[in-house]
Amino acid sequence: MTSYSRLVKWARTKKRCAKRHCARKGPKSTTTIKVLPTDLLVDVVARVASNSFIDLLNLKKCSKDFLHATEDNYISQRVSLETFPLIQWIPNDKASSFLNHCRECENIESLYREGLRKYFSYSSGKNDGLEILKVAAQKGHKEAKYVYGMILICSKDDELRKQGLEHVRFLRKSKCVVSCRQKVRQLLNFMWKNHAMLEHNQSPLCSFKSTCKGWRLKTSRWALLDDDDEDEDMSLCEYCRWDHELELFYRLFNVY
Ligand SMILES: [Zn+2]
Repeated sequence: MTSYSRLVKWARTKKRCAKRHCARKGPKSTTTIKVLPTDLLVDVVARVASNSFIDLLNLKKCSKDFLHATEDNYISQRVSLETFPLIQWIPNDKASSFLNHCRECENIESLYREGLRKYFSYSSGKNDGLEILKVAAQKGHKEAKYVYGMILICSKDDELRKQGLEHVRFLRKSKCVVSCRQKVRQLLNFMWKNHAMLEHNQSPLCSFKSTCKGWRLKTSRWALLDDDDEDEDMSLCEYCRWDHELELFYRLFNVY
């Protein structure tokens, strides 16, 4: 059980206890939540929201204080959109209205999704999708950093490749490259992908790929299918690491 789920469970228990207390001793009972400053309560709710939209819905039902706190725009800015598909194939006004509100509140995940949709959509050709992905990446969204960074590394422009490395390097240090790739894959399952947007760069980053010690030592182990496989040794050749990741990134978009 996550700490957020525990918080939801705690709040529900508190509500039940308060009800029982009221039934026995009349309406004098107060809950601990009421003594929390509003800013702190909003911050707690924002943490729940950023972890799970479902937990946020459950929290709303716990008390009026929580319900009131969820109406703050900061919550819409932070809420996780993981449970929503990238493209609403089945019209859903309520979901659309919620997602639009999140976008208006500059929800960072909303920004990332818009960038992804625009950049890889079939009809758009040149569009501002990459710029939007860049903004989301600069604001610290991890999957945006992954997608934007890898797109730049696909480029044949050495300067752009360097910029791309800066984004993905952050993810490697945070040991979340694999989880980012998996989340991107899940999201892309619901979208047609215009793979023509990606350049298949045949030039490896590592100039010594055939003889590079780091690559030859790690190559058999670099399946990197989950976070447990995230490479531990930061001293091994970084360029080889990203050459390997690039192949996996191309596969996400059916680029061979
Ligand atoms: Zn190398």
